[in-house]
Amino acid sequence: MKIAGLTPFTTIDYPDHLAAVLFCRGCPWRCGYCHNRSLLEEEGAGDLCWEKVLAFLDSRRGLLDAVVFSGGEPTLQPSLKQAVQSVREKGFLVGLHTAGAFPERLKELLPFLDWVGMDLKAPFPEYERVTGVSGSGEAARQSALLIRESGVAHQFRTTLAPMLLTGGRIESMRRMVEVEWGSDFREQQISHL
Ligand code: SF4
Repeated sequence: MKIAGLTPFTTIDYPDHLAAVLFCRGCPWRCGYCHNRSLLEEEGAGDLCWEKVLAFLDSRRGLLDAVVFSGGEPTLQPSLKQAVQSVREKGFLVGLHTAGAFPERLKELLPFLDWVGMDLKAPFPEYERVTGVSGSGEAARQSALLIRESGVAHQFRTTLAPMLLTGGRIESMRRMVEVEWGSDFREQQISHL
């Protein structure tokens, strides 16, 4: 795994649990408001080697409940499933932050996850305006469907990008998630990405 950094202790990245967050390198999308730009490229200097990450987690057994794979877009990396399994074997709950760019990989991963937080960028037909990538809305739609049907605890969130603040988009997304899907929906400020 290419891990660009980690947060050793957080109370806000996995609901109701103490967690560490691993920031996975790489993302195929280019949201204009992205605050993790240093993570977007698949190669970068100063990354943590996976063995060091595992050693850190060994030192936190009994102190942390969960480990969250965040990014970037964690599902970009083919080795994520193996990494998730190795973290589970250490006795931690495993959470995932994803924007849903790789539904096929997410599908394989879901049975090994305890919680997923998925970022919704916009109403699905309008994704390209946020991500800059055609087809991103369909990938996100498929991922959201997989998460809803998986039975894994989850939350959908959206970042309050300027284009979402007009035209009733937030309200329509909230209605879709809360009323049609029966899932949790949370808005977050851009600075909290
Ligand atoms: S999906 Fe997330 S990490 Fe990727 S560009 Fe958008 S905000 Fe940044």
